[in-house]
Amino acid sequence: MNNFISLKKLSKYFSNNKKVTVLKKINYSFAKGKIYSLMGPSGSGKSTLLNILSMIDKPTSGSLLIDDKTINFSETVINDNIRSKKIGIIYQQNNLLPDFTALENVYFASLALNDDKKKSVDKAKKIIKKMGLSTREHHYPSELSGGEMQRVAMARALINEPEIILADEPTGSLDHSTAKEVFKILYNLNESESLKSSLLALNAAPKITIFFCLASLETSKAT
Ligand code: ADP
Ligand code: MG
Repeated sequence: MNNFISLKKLSKYFSNNKKVTVLKKINYSFAKGKIYSLMGPSGSGKSTLLNILSMIDKPTSGSLLIDDKTINFSETVINDNIRSKKIGIIYQQNNLLPDFTALENVYFASLALNDDKKKSVDKAKKIIKKMGLSTREHHYPSELSGGEMQRVAMARALINEPEIILADEPTGSLDHSTAKEVFKILYNLNESESLKSSLLALNAAPKITIFFCLASLETSKAT
């Protein structure tokens, strides 16, 4: 019905020396317009699931459906395209490219899709401004605070107006009050009204935001 992402009997094992079962026959559907929080202690499989939802990794068995279409994990070109168009990912460590400025880190993500540098730069500047970081545009990641870097990473994840935001312990490396700020921005993303009043000046709100959080620690941060 309103399901946007479905997992059907999805399992993931790792087998190097020893077989490790991480995800076991998961059946679950994520509906549009909602925010989900997946909590579990370190090692419980949060990042493994995120990597499968974002098609960076593939399940051992079972299936993933996005927008009612079953993902074929061997069609990497198609999947790369779905990922860059529909999915924004925010990691705990922001993964910014260290040799490029905040602006470059953000506009490169758009350039990868539309090949129009001016349009990409304009869009990046707009979104960086909404994140309150205009004065940091030309700074390198090493010249930014943890919260500022994470806001740049958010701008990068949002520039292509994704339908799904996957946030893997997005505030795990931040102090309490910075974490609260970052969560607030992320929560507000799903409320299209605040979005229209141009918190981020995106055309459409992400349909789903999924937070992959460490049990209890990040929920208290979110309040
Ligand atoms: P979380 O994000 O909840 O901390 P992960 O998804 O990173 O947990 O890891 C879940 C389990 O899978 C851990 O026991 C981890 O050691 C194992 N694991 C993750 N990636 C691999 C891999 N590439 N090879 C073998 N084991 C892995
Ligand atoms: Mg993890």
